[in-house]
Amino acid sequence: MVKRYLKKQIDVDAGLEVGSSSPQVVAVVSSVIQDIRTNQDAAVRKYSEKFDKWSPASFKLSEAEINAAIAACPAQTIRDIEQVQRNVAKFAKCQRASLTDFEIETEPGVLLGQKNVPINSVGCYIPGGRYPLLASAHMTILTAKIAGVPNVIGCTPPIEGKIPNATVAAMHMAGADQIFVLGGVQAVAAMAVGTETIDKVDFLAGPGNAFVAEAKRQLYGQVGIDLFAGPTEVLIVADDSARPLTVATDLISQAEHGPDTPAVLITTSERVAKESMAKVEELLAGGLSTAAVASVAWRDWGTVVVVDDLDEAYTLADEYASEHVQILTKRPREALDKMRNYGALFLGERTCVSYGDKVIGTNHVLPTRKASRYTGGLWVGKYLRTVTYQEVVRDEASGQLGRLCGRAARAENFEGHARSGDLRANLFLKDSFDW
Ligand code: NAD
Repeated sequence: MVKRYLKKQIDVDAGLEVGSSSPQVVAVVSSVIQDIRTNQDAAVRKYSEKFDKWSPASFKLSEAEINAAIAACPAQTIRDIEQVQRNVAKFAKCQRASLTDFEIETEPGVLLGQKNVPINSVGCYIPGGRYPLLASAHMTILTAKIAGVPNVIGCTPPIEGKIPNATVAAMHMAGADQIFVLGGVQAVAAMAVGTETIDKVDFLAGPGNAFVAEAKRQLYGQVGIDLFAGPTEVLIVADDSARPLTVATDLISQAEHGPDTPAVLITTSERVAKESMAKVEELLAGGLSTAAVASVAWRDWGTVVVVDDLDEAYTLADEYASEHVQILTKRPREALDKMRNYGALFLGERTCVSYGDKVIGTNHVLPTRKASRYTGGLWVGKYLRTVTYQEVVRDEASGQLGRLCGRAARAENFEGHARSGDLRANLFLKDSFDW
C-alpha cells in the first residue's frame, strides 16, 4: 500500500495499543482501588480531596439538591436535554426491540429458549473533569433504563469545586436512581467494590479519561464493564470532493476533547490534505476558546496520510480501528460495505461526529484504542444478559437424551454426568443400569 504521510505522529502499527494505559496510570489506579477496598468511604474522600479538591458533607445529592440543580439551568438547556433524550430513547428502544426472546422445539418434546434479562444494578460514570459531559448521562443512564435496569447509580465529578447543574439535570431526567458528585477512579472504584455509603453495583458503564478507563479495566471481573471507552479519537476519510474547512473543523471538534486525542485524516487528495492542514492551523490560531487543548492534541496526535485510492483509504482506516470514522467523499454510503473496524460511522457532510456526540441519538460511548476490532459501542444489549433455559416435556425425548448423555459423558470419563443420563433412560425408557 502506498502511503505518504504529510503529518505523522501516530503510526497505525505502533502508536496505539489495544486497551493500553501508561505504566504511571496503571500504578496510580491500582493503589487508589486497593485503598478504597480497604478503607472505603475514608479513602474515597481522601482521593476526592486530592484529585478534585472536593469534600462535601455528602457526595450523594439529596432530592433538594437535585431540584436546585435543575432550577439553576436555563429553561432552554432543559428543553434541549429533553429533545436529545427523546432522540436517544427512540434509537435505544428500537435496539431493545431487535433483541427477541425465543423458544424452539429442537426435537419433539425438547424446548430450548433464550431470554434477555436486565442487569440488576449499574454504575454509570458521566465524565466532567474538563467539560460537563452531560450528553454521557443520556447515553449511559437513559440507555440502562430503557434496557430495564432497576438500580442505576450515576457519578460525575464536580466542576471547579461546584455541582455541575446541567449534568445533574440530565442524569435525573435520564432516570438515575441515585446521583453522586464524585469523579475519577474514586467514583468508579467505590461503585465497583461498595463502601459504607455507596452501593456496590454489578456493572460499570460510561466513558472517561485514561484514569477512569484504566480503573474499569482493573475492576473488570469483579464487575462487568461496557467497554474500553477511553480518550476520544477521530478519523476522517476524504476524497477530492471534501471541503477543507469541513475537514479541519471536524478534526478540531474532536481534538478539543483532550491533549491525547488522535485526529487522523486519510485522503486520496494531496490538495485536500494540504488545504485542510492549513485550515486547522488557521482555526486554531483564530480565537477558538479550546485552542490550547486542541493544539496540543493536533501537534502530538494529528496524522495526515495521502493514499492512492479510496480502497486503500478504507483498508488503512480499518487498521486504525478508530472510535469515530467520518466519510467525506462523493459516495459516503459505500463505506458501510467497505469498512469493518469503527465505533460509529458518520456518512457524508450533512452529519458529523459532533452530532453523534451530542444530539442525533446513536450512543456516543464508543470503543477506543483499537477496541473497535472486537466490540461495538454502548447499547441497550450491553445492559442485558442473554440467558438460556431448557425443558423436556416428553418421556421418550428425555430417555433418548439420557442414553446419549450416558455415552457422551463416559467418552470424557465423567461417570457422575453419565449416571444423570442413565437415570433418565431408566425412568422414562425403563433401561436398566448397573452402577
Ligand atoms: P473524567 O471525568 O473522565 O476525569 C476526571 C477525573 O479524573 C477527576 O475527577 C479526577 O478525579 C481524575 N484525575 C484527574 N487527574 C488525575 C490524576 N493525576 N490522578 C488520578 N486521577 C486523576 O473527565 P475528563 O478528564 O474531562 O475526561 C473525559 C474523557 O472522556 C476524555 O478523554 C474524552 O475524550 C473521553 N470520552 C470518551 C468517550 C468514548 O466513548 N470513548 C465519550 C466521551 C468522552
